[in-house]
Amino acid sequence: MQTLRDAIRTIPDYPKPGIQFRDISTLLGNPRAFRRAVDELVQPYAGARIAKVAGIEARGFILGGAIAHQLSCGFVPIRKKGKLPHQTVSIAYALEYGTDEMEIHVDAVEKGEKVILVDDLIATGGTASAAVRLLQKLGAEVVAACFVIDLPELGGAAKIEALGVPVRTLVAFEGH
Ligand code: AMP
Repeated sequence: MQTLRDAIRTIPDYPKPGIQFRDISTLLGNPRAFRRAVDELVQPYAGARIAKVAGIEARGFILGGAIAHQLSCGFVPIRKKGKLPHQTVSIAYALEYGTDEMEIHVDAVEKGEKVILVDDLIATGGTASAAVRLLQKLGAEVVAACFVIDLPELGGAAKIEALGVPVRTLVAFEGH
């Protein structure tokens, strides 16, 4: 059987020279691989009474929606600044060049709710650690952060674990 790794397409030098873009659109388009990725990501949390899955825009929405359905819990989006219509809480985070901001609706999660954070890939962990801090600002208990792909050389997973949040990843790739 094809592995999850085989279902991920690598585009060299995208979006700029030196980056190996790990494209999960081929995994999402493959019925068996998509189901398997979702099943494997949720497996440890099946009986954990998770209240919400929080997905990071945009690929975290696709995986997060499927994971929320599987866990019979809610889904909440974490979006780039200016995209959410209701009152938001926001957080600034560092990019390679400059900073960016992400937001969540102020009433998206309640204090003490158990939340799982989802994105397709963790690289430096800058995006996910900002998302964890945003959820924690609202009083959520972030039970885990889940990603299909880890780039371990960039140290992102360790950064999330340092915030007290366990990390689950399925496939590791070398390099950037
Ligand atoms: P980071 O904040 O450095 O952990 O970057 C994670 C975010 O950037 C995720 O939303 C990923 O989708 C995206 N990303 C970073 N590096 C790659 C890569 N090599 N291939 C695909 N997506 C990437």
